Amino acid sequence: MEKEEVATGHTFFGMYDYLVVGAGLFGSVFAHEAALKGKKVMVIEKRDHIAGNIYTKEVEGIQVHEYGAHIFHTSDKEIWDYVTQFAEFNRYTNSPVANYKGEIYNLPFNMNTFNKLWGVVTPAEAQAKIDEQRAVLNSKIPENLEEQAISLVGTDIYEKLIKDYTEKQWGKPTTELPAFIIRRLPVRLTYDNNYFNDTYQGIPIGGYTQIVEKMLAHENIDVETGIDFFDKKGEYLKSFPKIVFTGMIDQFFDYEFGELEYRSLHFDTEILNVENYQGNAVVNYTDAETPYTRIIEHKHFEFGMQDKTIITKEYSKTWTRGDEPYYPVNNERNNHLYKEYQKLAAKQKNVIFGGRLGQYCYYDMHQVIAAALQCVKGEFGE
Ligand SMILES: Cc1cc2nc3c(=O)[nH]c(=O)nc-3n(C[C@H](O)[C@H](O)[C@H](O)COP(=O)(O)OP(=O)(O)OC[C@H]3O[C@@H](n4cnc5c(N)ncnc54)[C@H](O)[C@@H]3O)c2cc1C
Repeated sequence: MEKEEVATGHTFFGMYDYLVVGAGLFGSVFAHEAALKGKKVMVIEKRDHIAGNIYTKEVEGIQVHEYGAHIFHTSDKEIWDYVTQFAEFNRYTNSPVANYKGEIYNLPFNMNTFNKLWGVVTPAEAQAKIDEQRAVLNSKIPENLEEQAISLVGTDIYEKLIKDYTEKQWGKPTTELPAFIIRRLPVRLTYDNNYFNDTYQGIPIGGYTQIVEKMLAHENIDVETGIDFFDKKGEYLKSFPKIVFTGMIDQFFDYEFGELEYRSLHFDTEILNVENYQGNAVVNYTDAETPYTRIIEHKHFEFGMQDKTIITKEYSKTWTRGDEPYYPVNNERNNHLYKEYQKLAAKQKNVIFGGRLGQYCYYDMHQVIAAALQCVKGEFGE
């Protein structure tokens, strides 16, 4: 199919049942399921590749997670069965480590972390130390992130492993960040470095892109990359009976009520002539002096034995128009604004807003698959 045809949109009048905007996980699950129901689907994607933020690319025999470390985890067997029909997964367990000025600590906070910090050996000793440090708050109800963190894990962990890292992530002092951001801090009184509590966890052998490739490889689906919906929004709305939109909801309505806030990221990737750079897939830099938040060494996701290695430094930054919006900032102001956009969306009967940008919600991969399958049920029934 010629690109010009797609760009003019109306050429397709009557040819498709759905236009899916965005070839990320939400759009691709929807397109796949709609195609299985016999619907004709056109997928457009503004990037030059499919798979959205789960895109991985092979470089030097290593699967590079181009948009940050992605570890699949879920306790929902249905979702696990769903995703594993598209790829075989390995036994990867997420056990990131923190580097605070050269001191290494295990994450999530567990007995290994507490032993290294305080020399404590038993869970009772660790709990006593945490309780002693939490006491500085005098039972005050936490009003900001700093107080919330101290109330959960005490002052030492807050100072070394939370404060500066969180400030780099959000670009604000922890005293100005709301407490709810860290409502749940995984704290384990066991010697268990496994970050997730989920039943199923792993990385697709050979990367994530194949999953989306297989979802979209159906005779009822046409895919075009390098096409921005907003270049021909009016024509697309006229030409397709229904649109599944997974881009930014505020942009769809031309920022009518103002911009929703997002956090963006900058990735700096290097190929190194060493076999093993940091000995772990993910190392978080939790001090203020290191400008990046973490370094990913991609080969460790698949236990790679290549001669070279590839690392990515991840920097967090404020989103401005034109940047990739990676994380919605779900504070009170933005949630309120999003509700206003939702009211407009409800009036747009032929458009379904889905995914982390369409629904302005941080979704992990298992959650976005579940949301897309829910949306499929809404469209086609069980
Ligand atoms: C740094 C980072 C790390 C993460 N780590 C994990 C993890 O370890 N485990 C986990 O489960 N989840 C993780 N996630 C979440 C995961 O990436 C998401 O759940 C998933 O990618 C969301 O899919 P989506 O389809 O909603 O969005 P996206 O993947 O963003 O797909 C939306 C697509 O729409 C396209 N698009 C937008 N606007 C337009 C337009 N106007 N025209 C055409 N196309 C458009 C975009 O280019 C994009 O490709 C992480 C996310 C980030 C940012």
